[in-house]
Amino acid sequence: MTDFITYGIIVLVAVVVFAIAGKSKSKWGINLKRVYCPVCGAKQPIVRWPQNQQQFLWGGTTCPKCHANLDKYGNVIP
Ligand SMILES: [Zn+2]
Repeated sequence: MTDFITYGIIVLVAVVVFAIAGKSKSKWGINLKRVYCPVCGAKQPIVRWPQNQQQFLWGGTTCPKCHANLDKYGNVIP
């Protein structure tokens, strides 16, 4: 029973930390919303195949329409 409570607290803390990280749009956040390309407005696919190391590590995508580099929140990476 004590173990169950301990795991519950750990999970809760992890969820809160990720929620805060996502809100502040940090690298550590997770973004589950669909992203639209700010350049051409194309909807980005949910399942993304990383095309470089940065996308592999931190998420993000390359727009299939205009090939702009986007982070996982839909901002253009210069
Ligand atoms: Zn685009």
